[in-house]
Amino acid sequence: MSAHKIIIAIDGFSSCGKSTLARELAARLGYSYIDSGAMYRAITLYFLRNQVDYSDHSAVLAALANINLTFVFNEQSQGSDIHLNDENVEPYIRDMIVSEKVSEVSAIREVRSFAVAQQKRMGRKKGIVMDGRDIGTAVFPHAELKIFMTAEPEVRVMRRFKEMYAANPHTTIEDVRHNLELRDYIDSTREESPLHQAEDAILLDNSNLSKEKQLEMVMDWVKSLTPKGEPAI
Ligand code: C5P
Repeated sequence: MSAHKIIIAIDGFSSCGKSTLARELAARLGYSYIDSGAMYRAITLYFLRNQVDYSDHSAVLAALANINLTFVFNEQSQGSDIHLNDENVEPYIRDMIVSEKVSEVSAIREVRSFAVAQQKRMGRKKGIVMDGRDIGTAVFPHAELKIFMTAEPEVRVMRRFKEMYAANPHTTIEDVRHNLELRDYIDSTREESPLHQAEDAILLDNSNLSKEKQLEMVMDWVKSLTPKGEPAI
């Protein structure tokens, strides 16, 4: 592992394979991996379970005061699971019911301030790969490496469909397509930190790239950042 730890920010549209790349990159570098989308999903799950009226700002603030989010290492998956008030909610946060509401919830200013403050704290010691929608623009605007991922819409729909179908065979391609289009639209047009490519982010279109090829490309970018005289990764 390099003595010179950096922050790697990965942003992009829904279902571009950001988490897969980020997880593998972190494992290769010995860095921590944070899935910031899991935080917004866990907050949304809390709001749904507790019927929080999220058009009411004071109700939102009161709900956030009762939310404690932590990432806990899972030996079996070798990844971290998000815990909501000490409950492992990883099995529930990707359900369609959460996917349908998460973009509305994450557009709320108070929700973003809550999540972003925690994300910034996680990056204090560097050595982190975080993926999301505003990581290179708002959370870590000074990240040493910023990547903006995209892929053809149909490639993304089929990727997400396969994942969701495995968990729930009632899922249809149309439901998945509709949800991706809706989330991308809300995420890129919201007032608070909309999704857009940071000026200094490298664009990575992985429509026709294997996971191995992507990892290799990004590892080359990381190596090119290592200052002379620093130990190699
Ligand atoms: O990454 P994932 O698709 O799980 O994210 C779910 C949703 O959380 C996104 O569609 C977006 O609305 C929200 N999100 C966000 N900012 C982030 C990460 C996710 O607004 N940094």
